[in-house]
Amino acid sequence: MVDYLTSALWTDDEIAFRRELQEFCAKEIAPIADEIDKGPYPRELLRKIGKAGYMGVHHDRADGGTDRGLSYEIIVAEEISAVNGGLDMARMASTTLYGMPVSRFGTPEQRKKFLEPVVAGEKIGCIGITEPDVGSDTAGMKTKAVKDGDDWVLNGEKRFITNGSQADYMCAFAITNPDVHSKDGMSAFIVDTKSDGFKVVQDHELLGMKSARVSWLKFEDVRVPGDRLLGKPGEGFHILMDELDSERTAIAGEAIGYARTPYEISVKYANERHQFGRPIRAFEGVSFKVADMAMKLEAGRALTLTAARMYDKGEKITKQASIAKLYTTEAAIQITNDALQILGGMGYTTDYPVERFLRDARLMTIGGGTAEILRFLIQREVFKEFFPE
Ligand SMILES: Cc1cc2nc3c(=O)[nH]c(=O)nc-3n(C[C@H](O)[C@H](O)[C@H](O)COP(=O)(O)OP(=O)(O)OC[C@H]3O[C@@H](n4cnc5c(N)ncnc54)[C@H](O)[C@@H]3O)c2cc1C
Repeated sequence: MVDYLTSALWTDDEIAFRRELQEFCAKEIAPIADEIDKGPYPRELLRKIGKAGYMGVHHDRADGGTDRGLSYEIIVAEEISAVNGGLDMARMASTTLYGMPVSRFGTPEQRKKFLEPVVAGEKIGCIGITEPDVGSDTAGMKTKAVKDGDDWVLNGEKRFITNGSQADYMCAFAITNPDVHSKDGMSAFIVDTKSDGFKVVQDHELLGMKSARVSWLKFEDVRVPGDRLLGKPGEGFHILMDELDSERTAIAGEAIGYARTPYEISVKYANERHQFGRPIRAFEGVSFKVADMAMKLEAGRALTLTAARMYDKGEKITKQASIAKLYTTEAAIQITNDALQILGGMGYTTDYPVERFLRDARLMTIGGGTAEILRFLIQREVFKEFFPE
């Protein structure tokens, strides 16, 4: 009965995988979904998710993953987000935002030590890009890393870092050559959060995503051994751009999850709730909202899967990932808001989780590239296609 399992989109294996995952979520996450929203999520839960194989679907077998690709990661993102958004934000920050740069640019030794335990759910990762003075304009980054013997010494601040106060490792970006543009002067490092000088200033109080922790951090002379540089010196901006493609596609998967549960709740509610002697679904003011929600969910899922399939084929997906994230995140805000409207006063209570999903969904036109920046990127790619240099 569920439209999103159509074989026109998904392979038999993907459908079977999703069904198993739904059972896992129903058993392990749904019963505590409201409880863990008081935050932070229990670390044990990430271990369980890792043990069940849901941290590593897009990681190599050599790193403890199952090598099935981003098309499976978007399924995991959707299904866990459909139960608790903050939990998946934490999972994904660890395995995708942190994990993909280490997977794609790490040496075998780095992957063994710093990726395998994260894929297993034993260790937690985070990614450090944003700073107090640097958000959308990542090239303006101020954190610096200076070579000292074999080590690098990091100084600076990072803000809004998902898992920041919980993580064992950070994929941190810093300027290593201030004399050239950041495109060539930024580098990426694997930082152990137990290092001297790595400080948690505070966890931010958030509107939603309450089960996750998002932190403001400082590096004060944090010493990073030379063998923890990811890729080559100066390759950081390239690593960052590469990471954002997988992050944005996976966030699109999450956005479908935040939207789907409120949609399902509101469709059932519209059928059961009676006013003026009939179910409220009989009123077009209600039923046409349902039509719009269904349409946006299906369109979003197709856009997201297109980006994921292209990524899995090794294609460049800057435009498709941006389109998928922009469309699904704006749609998720509209869908969760419409669902709340269909529930009337009940939607505004915590008796239903719709208000939680609306608060969670609101983040996603900001994090991982704002809607405005994504529109900028999409038009830039379009003009490049029409007028190649
Ligand atoms: C809960 C949460 C979790 C996060 N997790 C992480 C994380 O794990 N790691 C990490 O590094 N970062 C993380 N972020 C940071 C996130 O990616 C940034 O918030 C985002 O990139 C926007 O940066 P900013 O908040 O500094 O906004 P700004 O860049 O200051 O933008 C403010 C406004 O100006 C607009 N604007 C800026 N430039 C332009 C332009 N050129 N054209 C049009 N409009 C523009 C923006 O769209 C926005 O509306 C997280 C943020 C939040 C809130």
